[in-house]
Amino acid sequence: MNFTKFPRRNYLQGPTPIESMPSLSKALGGEVNLYVKRDDLLPGAGGGNKTRKLEFCIGDALDQGADTIITCGAVQSNHARLTASWSAKEGLECHLILEERVKGSYKKDASGNNFLFELLGVKSIGVVEGGSDMMVEMNKKAGELVAAGKKPYIIPGGASNSIGATGYAVCAEETMGQLNEMRLDIDHIVVPSGSAGTHAGMVAGMTGVNGGIPISGMNVSRSKDIQEEIVYKLAVETAERLGVKGGLVREDIVCFDRYVGPGYSLPTDPMVEAVKLFAKTEAILLDPVYSGKAAAGLIDLVRKGHFPKDSNVLFLHTGGSPALYAYMNTFRQS
Ligand SMILES: *Cc1c(COP(=O)(O)O)cnc(C)c1O
Repeated sequence: MNFTKFPRRNYLQGPTPIESMPSLSKALGGEVNLYVKRDDLLPGAGGGNKTRKLEFCIGDALDQGADTIITCGAVQSNHARLTASWSAKEGLECHLILEERVKGSYKKDASGNNFLFELLGVKSIGVVEGGSDMMVEMNKKAGELVAAGKKPYIIPGGASNSIGATGYAVCAEETMGQLNEMRLDIDHIVVPSGSAGTHAGMVAGMTGVNGGIPISGMNVSRSKDIQEEIVYKLAVETAERLGVKGGLVREDIVCFDRYVGPGYSLPTDPMVEAVKLFAKTEAILLDPVYSGKAAAGLIDLVRKGHFPKDSNVLFLHTGGSPALYAYMNTFRQS
């Protein structure tokens, strides 16, 4: 794939590591060999997957002469934290619109990512009700900023348009290159599936490099059918943007919705178990909203014998650990 024709910043410092997880594999019965791709270690304050997408989104913003970034997210959004982080680095103003998906969940003095928004110097935080049309809210903010003489650029939630998802096509190519180098034959990749850019970009990129490794997405909010349609549409759009010719079919998009629990960002027992197990066996910090629920899905599938004996399974760790500090009671109580 050729990424050179797109505006892009230089936020990566080479490939993120692929590590084996022998202790976790053993704790789960030893029949499946688990590996992890450490996108939690990507640069940007607090790390995590949005850095790959923001290389392209902020590249596009600068290409268009923007001096201000507007984006949106949930009250503990990792995407908002990393957008604030890279905006600060680039000398861009950053404005956030936060969606209170769980009523009463926004607390001005909350810990975790919320505290970091402040520290990273965001210019304004607007909080809107759950279910609000976030694009309408961001356009409203853009109107105000234009009237004040600014040149705002809107990055959609999770940076999950085809511009941002291109960052995960890069990740798929990078991963395939590493696996070839390592002589490591991975049978299956498991990724979290939220605003869908990560999952869609990985599938588009895997198609582009003809890697042939099946990818499963673990939902964090939506039902299987709805999420698969969203991922498929974005994967096709991203593949077209990259000039990937054919080959991407609807069946390539597989999502599991069994690990969402009562809803987005709401803790589940399997999530708590997964976070504790990764920490105790591999010293890897997951997060309560995304990687913790995705890992709960991975663990359940391993235990159920979903992957054939001796399979090699790669978990894409998308980061998010700063949100742990906003959930300490959840982990201490259970
Ligand atoms: C945003 C996010 C995800 C989900 O990625 P999408 O591209 O939105 O599907 C997963 N993990 C973490 C830590 C995130 O912040």
